[in-house]
Amino acid sequence: MTVPEAAEVGWYVHVPFCAKRCGYCSFNTAPLEDGAMARYLDALHREIDLLGALAWAPRVRLATVFFGGGTPSLLADDDMAAVLDGIRARFDVAPDAEITVECNPESVTREKLEGYRGAGVNRLSLGVQSLDDAILPRLGRLHDARGARAAFDAAREAGCANLSVDVMYGLPGLDLDGWARAVDAVLDWRPDHLSAYGLTLDAGSLWGAAGVEGIPAEQVQIDQYWRLARAAATRGLEHYEISNYARPGFRSRHNQIYWRAAEYLAAGPGACGFVGSTRYANVKATPRYCETLAAGALPIDSSEQLSSRQKLGERLILGLRTADGVPASWLETRLDGDERLRRRVDTWRAQALLAGADDRVRLTEAGFLLSDALFVDLL
Ligand code: SF4
Repeated sequence: MTVPEAAEVGWYVHVPFCAKRCGYCSFNTAPLEDGAMARYLDALHREIDLLGALAWAPRVRLATVFFGGGTPSLLADDDMAAVLDGIRARFDVAPDAEITVECNPESVTREKLEGYRGAGVNRLSLGVQSLDDAILPRLGRLHDARGARAAFDAAREAGCANLSVDVMYGLPGLDLDGWARAVDAVLDWRPDHLSAYGLTLDAGSLWGAAGVEGIPAEQVQIDQYWRLARAAATRGLEHYEISNYARPGFRSRHNQIYWRAAEYLAAGPGACGFVGSTRYANVKATPRYCETLAAGALPIDSSEQLSSRQKLGERLILGLRTADGVPASWLETRLDGDERLRRRVDTWRAQALLAGADDRVRLTEAGFLLSDALFVDLL
């Protein structure tokens, strides 16, 4: 495995189970069957041990650990504590490391979250998605609006001082008024961080394959984006990445590692890591992931060495997702000798989609909205 270059890295841990699959979801997850969690945890501990035994492991400090999924909050609190203890036993976890767990409202209680906190978890990301009790079951979610609020309150009561909420717009049956009500209600909860994703019909999802009716028109989705952007600004949240808002000091440190194209390790089925110039992915199928580790091997399935041109393209695209943008010199290097792209970028500036100051260039909020089209040109 490639040796990390940075002294500090992040670590993404994938939990590949959900109580039920959501129609829009293309993540690597499956319904939790009897005994599957125990087999997965056994394999995960083996993976942590194998990574911890690599020669470079003692030199690397973990700045963040992020449990994503799937539904990581299906883990019992003592299982979560055992995983974190395993990581701490083999790696130098920074004293102020950000340790995040993604949670679904129906799978948390105050007691479980107190247990997570005792294990060292200091950030929770709550998957609310909608506060409409007619829409939530259509999505395949198992909670209702009341349950979402109760989970948020349970997290606060458990002492969580860094609490993020995920919501989605562009959902089937969601009109602008319904979205405005949900935005205002969630902002009234005073989350420290808010992630808002527009629905996409990914190929690997149920809806991507079978289609879904009632998706709002494109202009309604654009209006929903702006409704949130304006409401969040009024409440003092900074729009620091295309889909993310934070109170000052509460940006997701782990996700910023991704957006800065910095290094992170991976554990769990299908988890992706990036070290040096190498992107790698673990075996996706959970049974094969467990078998590979039972045989004593790291479950790395594929890896790709990025060329310097690919790396620059990635850094531009990831960095331009953020309000901080990228050094102007990076964009200049990409434009060197590409007059067609230079003209495109000049057009973005003229349309106020791209702005620059202090030797950095960044997308404006209007540019965020069109970023997918812009990024195709930059690769
Ligand atoms: S959206 Fe979350 S809860 Fe739903 S299937 Fe995907 S990972 Fe599981």
